[in-house]
Amino acid sequence: MTNADYHFLKGGDEMGELIRSIDWSKTPIGPVAKWPQSLRIATSIMLSTPFPMYIAWGNEYTQLYNNGYRPILGSSKHPQAMGISTRETFAEIWHIIGSMFDGVMEGKAVGFPNFMLPLDRNGYVEECFFDFSYSPIYNDDETVGGVLVTVIETTENLKNVQKLKESNLALKRSEENLSNLISHAPVAMTVFRGPDYVIEIVNQKVLEIWGKTYEQVINKPVFEGLPEVKGQGIDVLLNNVYTTGEPFIANELPVKLFRNGELQQVYLNFVYEALKDNDDKIYGIAAIAIEVTEQVNARQKVEEAEERARLAIEAAKIGTFDYTLFNNTVVTSPRFDEIMGIDNTSDHKYYLSALHPDDLVVRDKAFEKAYNTGQLFYKARVKKGNETRWVQAEGKVYYDDEDKPSRILGTMVDITEQKSDEIRKNDFIGMVSHELKTPLTSLTAIIQLANTKLKVSDDSFLASAMEKANTQVKKMTAMINGFLNISRLESSKIQIDRQEINLEHLLEETISEIELTVTSHEIHFEPCNPIMVSADHDKISSVISNLISNAVKYSPKGKEIEVKCLVVDNNAQVSVRDEGMGIKMADIDKLFERYYRVESDHTRNISGFGIGLYLSAEIIQRHDGKIWAESEIGNGSTFYFSLPLTRD
Ligand code: ADP
Repeated sequence: MTNADYHFLKGGDEMGELIRSIDWSKTPIGPVAKWPQSLRIATSIMLSTPFPMYIAWGNEYTQLYNNGYRPILGSSKHPQAMGISTRETFAEIWHIIGSMFDGVMEGKAVGFPNFMLPLDRNGYVEECFFDFSYSPIYNDDETVGGVLVTVIETTENLKNVQKLKESNLALKRSEENLSNLISHAPVAMTVFRGPDYVIEIVNQKVLEIWGKTYEQVINKPVFEGLPEVKGQGIDVLLNNVYTTGEPFIANELPVKLFRNGELQQVYLNFVYEALKDNDDKIYGIAAIAIEVTEQVNARQKVEEAEERARLAIEAAKIGTFDYTLFNNTVVTSPRFDEIMGIDNTSDHKYYLSALHPDDLVVRDKAFEKAYNTGQLFYKARVKKGNETRWVQAEGKVYYDDEDKPSRILGTMVDITEQKSDEIRKNDFIGMVSHELKTPLTSLTAIIQLANTKLKVSDDSFLASAMEKANTQVKKMTAMINGFLNISRLESSKIQIDRQEINLEHLLEETISEIELTVTSHEIHFEPCNPIMVSADHDKISSVISNLISNAVKYSPKGKEIEVKCLVVDNNAQVSVRDEGMGIKMADIDKLFERYYRVESDHTRNISGFGIGLYLSAEIIQRHDGKIWAESEIGNGSTFYFSLPLTRD
């Protein structure tokens, strides 16, 4: 073989070398020197083009190919494919291409775009696509010598097209998902597209907020769908987001919307978020909103109520405090500080120092009571420089999870004016009663003297008149004494002169005195064992006398009054029971307050000032005893008092 034999391979690159290295005499094509002119020309053209080309020569379709064809053969077919039968190299697809090759040998050229062939070229079978043509290579004698294959692989292109299709589909799906998500979202969501903010997606919640139907708004620019919103500043917000891409967050933004046939003021919390395409270009705005109208209205009402309460408190010059018990701190209003004459501080103890030392015990007792009842109430004096002022505190106790008092909220008012009126009134009552006492004592003496003289007189009218005068004077004396005692009590001038007394004797003594004047009722006293107590004889007697005369007074129809004396838990306990009108539950606790009288048809015609029980309670308390009542309306009442027994 001479070089001249390979002349047609000149210019052939690596592939030329490969062709040269093969001993073609061992192939069906035969030695190169004997190759027909047509094969030489075809090979020469093939080797000089970068396009993938391939020749299948002779009935065995012995292969020759160029560099551009190598990728189609892959690593598992090149280089061994050179000089081998196509049948062998492409065994896996021969059933598809074989008949086409045979057709070409008969002069029928074929070609297809994007033709799929499952090739095994890199160790595995893969679907490959080709634009190809099979054309005959004619010999000089017009016979077909072989097949010229020109081919361009389109697998990658198709894959890219496929990918594009898939990504479009995914995009569509994600848009569908977005629209699905929006329509089922529990919050209002909408999408505005383009610079006209066309309402592209809306869900039911948005429609509810807008008060519109789907048809009224969908695919319309927002200010066409919601004309009432125009001019409310929303356009500025949208434009801002659309041009800057910065999200906008609205908190309780007031918007007027036309709903249910009227323009309504609503409040919205919402977010505007710019929507961007793959190139980061803004194409729309997504909005997520929650209507908070009810919450805002409710809060405004609370704020208004608070404001009204604050104004009322200010106008009434009421000071307020919020006292936290566990750390002894207090938050006070400026008026509170003014009333107490203390510069603002959170240290509770500091405020205590403002109270009059004598009244600290009043305050402590009131707090103790408040922890049990939930209500705080006390009056006390406050030192303000040289001045002493009266204050009144009222409050409500709050309890923690363990039912322990944790906090007291309350008010403080300056009641100095009120208190001085009261003091003046008491002074006046005290003074008048005191002044009346002397003439009344003389009058009593004169009446008693006249009474004794008239008892033996024949004039029965005068005798009974004088008797009645005697009773009335006694009543008056008792009344005047009551007033006098009150005023003494209030000015703390009342004295308890304790001595050892036998309660049984005292009861007997007092009852017999009363029996002198009472004829309408029978007083039963069950004698008891001697019970010794350390007490003020006259004052306890006046308590007993008050309870029995009330029993008489408030049981006009009843006849029996029962007085008992027992020892209960180391205390002497006296009870006075009547068959009278009884007392309502709501009144029972108040009976012992000063000037308290039950208002009813039954009591209206019974005279009194509401001071007897008040005085009795004060006297009993000063003996460290207790006084209380049990009663049922219409079923009589029982009044009790108890005194500690004298210890041996
Ligand atoms: P006064 O009898 O002067 O009104 P008291 O302080 O003694 O004053 O009594 C206060 C009120 O308690 C009376 O007005 C009356 O309504 C009621 N009260 C007192 N004792 C009785 C009783 N035994 N039965 C019914 N109500 C009574």
